[in-house]
Amino acid sequence: MQCLSHQLRKIKLLITVPKASYPNLKSIREDFPILHRKVHGKPLIYFDNGATTQKPRLVIETMNRIYEQENSSIHRGVHYLSDRMTEAYEEARNSVRKFIGAAASHEIVFTSGTTGSINAVATSFGEKYVGPGDEVLVTVMEHHANLVPWQMLCERKGARLRAIPMNDRGELMLDQLDSLLTGRTRMLAVTHVSNALGTINPVKNIVARAHERNIPVLVDGAQAVQHLAVDVTELDCDFYVFSGHKVYGPTGIGILYGKEKWLEDLPPYQYGGDMVDQVSLEKTTFNELPLKFEAGTTNYVGAIGMGKALEYLQGIGLEDIAAHEHHLVDYATHNLSQVPGVRIYGMASQRIATFSILLENTHPYDVGMILDKLGIAVRTGTHCAQPVMQHFGIEGTLRASLAMYNTPEEIDRFVTELQTAKSMLT
Ligand code: PMP
Repeated sequence: MQCLSHQLRKIKLLITVPKASYPNLKSIREDFPILHRKVHGKPLIYFDNGATTQKPRLVIETMNRIYEQENSSIHRGVHYLSDRMTEAYEEARNSVRKFIGAAASHEIVFTSGTTGSINAVATSFGEKYVGPGDEVLVTVMEHHANLVPWQMLCERKGARLRAIPMNDRGELMLDQLDSLLTGRTRMLAVTHVSNALGTINPVKNIVARAHERNIPVLVDGAQAVQHLAVDVTELDCDFYVFSGHKVYGPTGIGILYGKEKWLEDLPPYQYGGDMVDQVSLEKTTFNELPLKFEAGTTNYVGAIGMGKALEYLQGIGLEDIAAHEHHLVDYATHNLSQVPGVRIYGMASQRIATFSILLENTHPYDVGMILDKLGIAVRTGTHCAQPVMQHFGIEGTLRASLAMYNTPEEIDRFVTELQTAKSMLT
């Protein structure tokens, strides 16, 4: 009888969620050398893309070629290599501009990553515009990177940090937004997509509502740009930030997009070479945008590598990527919900293929360790989003975060091995 119901469930599964994917998935996987390695003797299933994504050969080869053939510091030399590097760096900036639909290249600032970008705005904007009694509004689902810099700013300035709450599906309670945006709110900082729950927030609507009150909005796009087509002009946000390493590019590089009016208005947050115009012992004037915000020798090789990653993604098409991943969301949600004792945290109607789960009577760390031995890379813990865990009254979860190169077959293996782990632990 049990066997029959199991069979029926399997048939239903096949009927409701077919194993479709985009036609070129196989060739996309071929572009990522690491996906073909084994871990502990098993074929790797890489489900830790929320932490960092793997790199296509194009990015790896571009960066190797630079270090082997073209390396030279940008913006300073008169020689061939320096000119060539500067040109490639500025081309990368333009690739980023196109990728997020910014109006002008000088609105794109290279930073060390999302964390670096948010700290830059919290410092620069915060020093100028946040004072005692003011408020900064965040959400309860922020990554610590979009929470702690604002909290520290508020502490320094005697300001107040407030947060938009969420419901148990992991959706922001936006009916409270209008009352949380007060005459004292100086900035609204919101994540586009939650790294812990996968929720896609309706940022266009949030930005419009903040702008009705002349409140600027910073959007943390660290988990969005690799999954959705993002157009900052359409979103109309004031700042948009993301990291190279989560968008199939290298580590140590990130983006701070800012509307020209803000970048012109705000003071630099770091001082040094390249960001200056005239320097004397008495006085310094600053370089024009975007160099005013790029003090010192930047990670120009990383920037060029990131530019290649974005070109690579555009070659595949963000719409196709989003459609494939949407399919993965449905397929994994359906299959995971068939596993007895699994609870998925975050069931927002709009979400990416990130699954925070707990398996009844097991500790996520133990499950993660067993999955690792079976070649499956997942993450366990609080995912740098402790307020999310506090909301649910839990210590952490096991997170499987999927990306454009993951397949329904990998989900099948993940679901099977979760059950293996469960049977070993209970
Ligand atoms: N915001 C979100 C939503 C993230 O997922 C992360 C990385 N996990 C960050 C910010 C920080 O990114 P980085 O470590 O690349 O600076």
